[in-house]
Amino acid sequence: MSRCCWLATSFALLVFQPASAAELAVLTDANWDRLAPAGKEADCILGDYAFRSDRLMIVVAQPLPTRNANMTVKQVGGCVIDLTLAANPNDQLSAFYPGMRRHVFTKAEITQAGGKKVVLVCTAPAQAAKTEPKADAQPEVRLEYELEDGQPFLLVRSIFKNTFDSPLDFALEDDLRADDFDQKVKAGPADLFWVHDHYFQQAYGLLADKHALRSRSDKRTSVIQYVPEKSDVSTVKLQPGQTYELVRRLIPGSSVLAVKGEAARLRGQALVRCGWHLVDPLYKPVAGVDVTLKQDDTVYGTARSDAWGWVRADLPLEKFALTCKTPGRTTLQRDLDLTKLKQNDVVNTEYELETPSLVVAEITDEKGGPIPCKVAFKGKGDTSSPNWGPPNAQQAVVNLFYSENGRFTVPINPGEYEATVSYGPEYDVVRVPLAVEKSKKIALNAVLKRAFRAPGWVSADFHSHSTPSGDNTTDQRGRVLNLLCEHIEFAPCTEHNRIDSYTPHLKALGVEKLMGTCSGIELTGIPLPLNHQNAFPLKMKPRTQDNGAPTVDLDPQKQIRRLAEWDEHAEKLVQQNHPDIGWLFFDKDGDGTPDEGYKDGFAFMNVIEVHPIHVVLTAAPTRVYADMTGKKIEYNHTIFNWLQLLNQGVRIPGVVNTDAHYNFHGSGGLRNYIRCDATTPSDIDPLQIVRHAKKGHIVMSNGPFLDVKLNDAIPGDDLRLEGGKGKLSIRVSCPNWLDIDRVQVLLNGRPDSTLNFTRKTHPNLFGDKALKFEHAFNLALEKDTHLIVVAIGEETEVGDVMGPMWGRQKPAAMSNPIFVDVDGGGFKANGDTLGAPLPVKSGKPVK
Ligand SMILES: [Zn+2]
Repeated sequence: MSRCCWLATSFALLVFQPASAAELAVLTDANWDRLAPAGKEADCILGDYAFRSDRLMIVVAQPLPTRNANMTVKQVGGCVIDLTLAANPNDQLSAFYPGMRRHVFTKAEITQAGGKKVVLVCTAPAQAAKTEPKADAQPEVRLEYELEDGQPFLLVRSIFKNTFDSPLDFALEDDLRADDFDQKVKAGPADLFWVHDHYFQQAYGLLADKHALRSRSDKRTSVIQYVPEKSDVSTVKLQPGQTYELVRRLIPGSSVLAVKGEAARLRGQALVRCGWHLVDPLYKPVAGVDVTLKQDDTVYGTARSDAWGWVRADLPLEKFALTCKTPGRTTLQRDLDLTKLKQNDVVNTEYELETPSLVVAEITDEKGGPIPCKVAFKGKGDTSSPNWGPPNAQQAVVNLFYSENGRFTVPINPGEYEATVSYGPEYDVVRVPLAVEKSKKIALNAVLKRAFRAPGWVSADFHSHSTPSGDNTTDQRGRVLNLLCEHIEFAPCTEHNRIDSYTPHLKALGVEKLMGTCSGIELTGIPLPLNHQNAFPLKMKPRTQDNGAPTVDLDPQKQIRRLAEWDEHAEKLVQQNHPDIGWLFFDKDGDGTPDEGYKDGFAFMNVIEVHPIHVVLTAAPTRVYADMTGKKIEYNHTIFNWLQLLNQGVRIPGVVNTDAHYNFHGSGGLRNYIRCDATTPSDIDPLQIVRHAKKGHIVMSNGPFLDVKLNDAIPGDDLRLEGGKGKLSIRVSCPNWLDIDRVQVLLNGRPDSTLNFTRKTHPNLFGDKALKFEHAFNLALEKDTHLIVVAIGEETEVGDVMGPMWGRQKPAAMSNPIFVDVDGGGFKANGDTLGAPLPVKSGKPVK
């Protein structure tokens, strides 16, 4: 079943010499397209230093104290921020910091801009020892970056000089950020330091001349130490005037196999040039095949086949076991015996992989047209669920497939599955059983029926993240797909500390009509959780530091004001994110005694995040959460505190958002229904969203749609009701996968026992179709009252459509308050603190 031809030849390698020579330049708009590398983690801006050879593309950040690659990769001046192959640019490096940020590079100079070799020299002045903050003295550093045509590495040379009058000890250490890479060299001594992101197909290696290497890594950072020959420590002592040189070679590759091969070749090791070409029976290349080489039980290295079905590796003349694994096909296994070959032999082998089992999906709307959808594939019985990619992947994420138009083909192993096809809570879910046979295609056809409409309202998520945020590595187009396939109709782009845009992704997917958007930000300072605010729309200045974003401030009051006044006081929405309301409003110093809080910031908060909403009716002032270690901590109950605030006359509308960071059911679990006149998402004017949101024309939901009117007033409105008499109309709609069983009206934040309707007590008001509840009745209020309506499914859960995290919540929707003035002169808050004191800072461990 697999064709295999060995082409063992032995000839001198022909090295192609391209006409162009290496190049090094300051990035400008004019050279950007040629010199700025592509890739999920590319962070270069105008003014950075871009290198290009026949083989590599590299960016060293300009030496400014304000130069940050992103929120968590800071102070990158003089450091390598982008590193990849010129033939297939795919930067996945966050940063390589020579000297671990102990040296502050203040100058950079191009000393050779073109020719066979280009050179950039950065310099850092010596630093005397500081006592506060405690830091050791540092030598003067001359840092040279050399890139040469034909070479697989960037040479990084540091020359340290002791300019002091006394001897100086310093450490030979670098660090490297390779966030979420799934493979990293084992901690301890190694000949070659390496990290590898198998799924995103990029690896980095590092060799040191005349020094032994040792390293340690966590999920984000690796620290690399250099031990001089004849020493066993990674520190050196320099006498006054003395210098010391450290040379390392940074090697990018499409896989750890490629990097190991380049490193071995540089060391003069005998190697065979292997290539495997993976094709199907129709001779079409198979991309994305997981190739693993093992020696006994030890993995030597892995790679994924490229778009042409190739994996190439230079291997030592040893024995290996090769496996080629890809969904929908039996894993291919072969033994490789390279021991009888000669140095520089070229061995290209073609493997025919069997015809895959495929799901061919055609999901349509009721008219047979294209429709975005999320399809979850679950294995039944002995069949395991597919795992196409990690939670930071773009389209096929764990067992989910996000499709912008409902048409896709995906390989899947033979077996029994259920496909759950969904498009957010306004559409019924379709569950399709699939019996997949070996090497056969199976059709997945479904029609997504609209369960209900919400005319005059659009669903929005004001808070989402992906890798430009710096605290995650999620593909940004994947975030857009996730939002789109959950039927979010308006989503500003709100990366941490960087203004960014979803528009290029919507254009590339051809779905600009289906989602409204604009540029925005989450301005993220300390302390967490207080000093985090979102804002949109904001003007994006591409290719500049943070795309023109404001900077953070240690004072949350100054920071929120800076954000509110950004772009010359242009109209925008400012959202307070996930607050501890006790700390923010009543306990600035966090000592547990009430004070005025961060009062100078209150005026700039247009809306405030109050999720989770499904716990609103527990009406307790605190909630207990388990932290990552399992320790139980008591936190303020945000939504209860918000009701207390409303009663103190603080009228900041509530919103709920997912704050999604990963693409496995990240977006979609929470949404705001906002009043908006647009009838198609592409017509949504972000400023209309801003204006309605400021008025509180918002219903918060984790699925159900709740329509509330008091006479003609909608949530957020003020209403004068003479004699307190009015007509309250409530309608609740759900798709076939959600249900509610209780509707409760809160008067001034307290559940009113006469305005409590359950499926048991009022069965005639509840329905079993999409319209779950409908009731219009007369109301008589005795005094000024703010009125909130809650719809909840107390005996159900959101369920599997929204994934394991959101799925455990009770379905819930909650209106913003309607403020009723009974006695004339405008609504007056009653001051009720709801049976508990006003909150102070929380976060105490539970004994
Ligand atoms: Zn956030």
